[in-house]
Amino acid sequence: MSERTLLERLEADPPTLSRSDIIQLLASTDAQEIESLFCAADRVRRRGVGDQVHLRAIIEFSNHCVRRCAYCGINRGRRDLVRYRMAPEEIVATARRAARAGFRTVVLQSGDDFHYSRETVADIIRAVKSAGVAVTLSLGERPFQDYRLWRQAGADRYLLKFETADAALYARLHPGQTLAQRLRCLEELASLGYQTGSGNIVGLPGQALQSLADDLLLMRSLGVEMAAIGPFVPHPSTPLSGEVPGETGLVLRVLALARLLMPRVHLPATTALGTVAGDGRARALRAGANVLMLDVTPAPYREHYEIYPGKGRDGAGVEQAWQQAGRWLAGQGRPVAQDAGDGHLAATRAGMARA
Ligand code: SF4
Repeated sequence: MSERTLLERLEADPPTLSRSDIIQLLASTDAQEIESLFCAADRVRRRGVGDQVHLRAIIEFSNHCVRRCAYCGINRGRRDLVRYRMAPEEIVATARRAARAGFRTVVLQSGDDFHYSRETVADIIRAVKSAGVAVTLSLGERPFQDYRLWRQAGADRYLLKFETADAALYARLHPGQTLAQRLRCLEELASLGYQTGSGNIVGLPGQALQSLADDLLLMRSLGVEMAAIGPFVPHPSTPLSGEVPGETGLVLRVLALARLLMPRVHLPATTALGTVAGDGRARALRAGANVLMLDVTPAPYREHYEIYPGKGRDGAGVEQAWQQAGRWLAGQGRPVAQDAGDGHLAATRAGMARA
């Protein structure tokens, strides 16, 4: 396919891209082609989800984890990390503060930590829901009964990244786990009526561009309502410490392609992207992103949720996080959304039902 044809495809409404188009754009070093990709993503983002940016408050309430993911700075093999667990009352108090500050969604995140029982988590969910916010869970792989009870308790969404669609790479990076099991969990979550989020890591050692294209196509085929795409950031205390970080330009191309493939999906400008490149989040907002995830974990704990180095050291409290993000977004010409963001999702479902 000639470059001209690919550029014309990017200009189409909506753009229709084949797997080989995606791979070509991922590999591209042509400045004009890349600029066309970002412009098309920005245009599709505006039409699909508008200019508003949704702010999500993340509470990382435990950094204990039973898994050994090779890239992760809180994996169970790490000995030099201060481990913490927030008490349920502390989690709920932080969530209520986030709701008062203006956040419409609270994300409850932890390592795969079975210390919190199914019932304890359900109680936390009920208490947080009473503050009038949407609740997203990001608690990893758990039994179906846990997912079901939490959904009954009022949880709206579940974020479970598949990280890579390459099953062999997945197995190498996640000892004792399989991609098939992860996808089964995502199926279960969707069957329970959760709005599901999933996504990948860009720049993993041994990851081919073809596999990144498959990641994008997998996100689309799963019908995810949020696509979380972030760079690989090597952590010095993990087996991948000596590897090269994911390249910002490549992460942005993956993000832009995700927007073209899924016009109404929620697409965060990730914190990790802001860590590897100072202007990473601003560039992500111009390449299709419409969500910011803000860490509101209280200060005694935050610095210890160190899934990658350099994370969680900004020290802003809940109210400051909301206000700073609003000011920063105003400077980007993007308003803060005042709703939880379900409108786009409902429209996505309606569109899928019609298709
Ligand atoms: S990526 Fe998640 S599941 Fe894996 S070690 Fe880190 S916190 Fe645990």
